[in-house]
Amino acid sequence: MSDNKYLVGARDDSDFTTWTAAELAEKIHSREISSEEVTQAHLDRISDIDADIHAFLHVGGDEALAAAVNVDNALANGEHPTSPLAGVPLALKDVFTTTDAPTTCASKMLEGYMSPYDATVTLRLRAAGIPILGKTNMDEFAMGSSTENSAYGPTKNPWDLERTPGGSGGGSSAALASGMAPLAIGTDTGGSIRQPAALTNTVGVKPTYGTVSRYGLVACASSLDQGGPTARTVLDTALLHEVIAGHDSHDSTSSTRPIAPVVEAAKAGASGDLTGMKLGVVKQFQHNDALQDGVLAAYEANLEQLQSQGAELVEVDCPNFDHAMNAYYLILPCEVSSNLARFDGMRYGQRRGDDGTHSADEVMSITREEGFGPEVKRRIMLGTYALSVGYYDAYYLQAQRVRNLIAQDFAKAYETVDAIVAPTTPTTAFKLGEKVDDPLSMYLFDLFTLPLNLAGVCGMSVPGGLASDTNLPTGLQIMGPAHGDDRLYRVGAAFEAGRAK
Ligand code: GLN
Repeated sequence: MSDNKYLVGARDDSDFTTWTAAELAEKIHSREISSEEVTQAHLDRISDIDADIHAFLHVGGDEALAAAVNVDNALANGEHPTSPLAGVPLALKDVFTTTDAPTTCASKMLEGYMSPYDATVTLRLRAAGIPILGKTNMDEFAMGSSTENSAYGPTKNPWDLERTPGGSGGGSSAALASGMAPLAIGTDTGGSIRQPAALTNTVGVKPTYGTVSRYGLVACASSLDQGGPTARTVLDTALLHEVIAGHDSHDSTSSTRPIAPVVEAAKAGASGDLTGMKLGVVKQFQHNDALQDGVLAAYEANLEQLQSQGAELVEVDCPNFDHAMNAYYLILPCEVSSNLARFDGMRYGQRRGDDGTHSADEVMSITREEGFGPEVKRRIMLGTYALSVGYYDAYYLQAQRVRNLIAQDFAKAYETVDAIVAPTTPTTAFKLGEKVDDPLSMYLFDLFTLPLNLAGVCGMSVPGGLASDTNLPTGLQIMGPAHGDDRLYRVGAAFEAGRAK
């Protein structure tokens, strides 16, 4: 690992980019180190390597340092830290609005767009005293599995620069894996947090739908979109989870239930003991032809480890998971076709063709033609077609029925098991360019992550070790019931502790 200069280095006292967020927070709060020097160290790391990785679309050095100095000054005045992560810098996916940096969703449509308001997630980060280092690269409007759909060029996987870090949130995960940030925020509509986490050896959580506010999260598919935390350890991810989750009256689908105690669960899991825990293994995911040999071997070793830590493995039958892909790639384009209608050249971002010779309708279509990339256009067309008169029942309504059946499969499984485990991705990181001209094979990469988004439940990807055939990271996926996010952290932290032994 150490001969790759792009990967985060081994823990080194004198290099803050190798520390965990929890360690940084502790020493910042006891004033042994300052948030300013920690933030500067990460900005320096970004200057050193991001030209090669391209994790960031925008770096906000001055704003991040100003936020860091505020935290340092407050602590110097004897004030209590405003959150357990106060002073620890973070990378924010460029799909959350920010008033002090452009929000582009990696689209030409929103090039240079400055939002008049901060997303609720952004506001919570600011209130928690978390300096925002910059906005991270992604697939355009979060559609894709590789960051190759970014209008500004792909992010490279720090493990191998010829490969994708996954998508859509590849920028956030690459920033973590390379030590450019100890914390990052992603969004997961069909796997965009968990899948890049698996491909970069980091941790990512898709919280239960409705528990992290979508206000100021630029919509892809509103019934699926969910912001979530990513980091290099399970505890760091839990600490960030508690900062961003919670009810928000600005989001009509925001849950009013109390947030599951995820930090407590991560701490409890650190003992490594899983005695009494029942983990489901999905029958439909077994012996899947798409699974790379090395990923399967890593996953089987992961299962053995969980058993050796006391977990009982139980096969669960989820017959409708086989249809998740079809349902997702119908429901998502339908919602996309509606949500992205707002980008009409009149209200947000870019306007093209407004030279006095074109009608308003023409300006709209020229703007959309030039502003959207091919994958976004493909989904808008698919969704528009599926929602057209005469097709609605056959496509959208049918897909919604499948969605209910998938939720029932989960509910039934959770009657007998505490959590479900599966591989996060069918293969390790693929080469840039390998799938980009073959949308179907790109969609198939989401095989294992989609069902839980459709059901609105929660999931985590935690590093599962390197695949023996490619020497690249794999992810173990842990799925939990709605509002049972603490179980992900309980199992994830125990598994992480077991691997470290
Ligand atoms: N890869 C999936 C898609 O392209 C997931 C995207 C996401 O979670 N934002 O839709």
